[in-house]
Amino acid sequence: MPITGECFCGSIKYQIIGNLKDARSCHCSRCRKAFSSQASAYALVEPNEFNWLQGSEKLTSYESEAGFGLQFCSRCGSTLCGTYNGELHGITLGCLNESPEIEIGYHIYVGSKAAWEVIPESVKTFKEGCQ
Ligand SMILES: [Zn+2]
Ligand SMILES: [Zn+2]
Repeated sequence: MPITGECFCGSIKYQIIGNLKDARSCHCSRCRKAFSSQASAYALVEPNEFNWLQGSEKLTSYESEAGFGLQFCSRCGSTLCGTYNGELHGITLGCLNESPEIEIGYHIYVGSKAAWEVIPESVKTFKEGCQ
C-alpha cells in the first residue's frame, strides 16, 4: 500500500512507495516559523520512492541560505515536504492521509523550545540535535 498525503485544500497530492524513516520533531525557532507550529513533525523519504500525483504545479518553494528548503501549497499554505540543495529530503507528517507504520522517535532542540510549549515527560528528548 503506498503512503499518500495531500495539502489542506486538496489541490496537491503525493504518494510514497517505500518507507518513511527517522521520524522526528524539531523544536528549534526556525522550525517553529517554518512549520507555523510548536515544532516540526517530519520524516525522511527516498527521493526515488516519492511521486507527486496531482497539483505539483501549485507548489511554491522557499530555500534557506544553508540549502534547506520547503515546498508548500500556493493556495492553502500547507507545507508538504522539505528539500536539501533542491532535492527532496523528507515529508511533513501532518499532511499524511493514513497512519503510516512509524511514530516520532525523538524530539530535538527542546533546549530552544517555545516558552509556551509543554513537552510530555515520557518522550525522548535532546537539548540540541541528536548526533
Ligand atoms: Zn493546498
Ligand atoms: Zn529545527
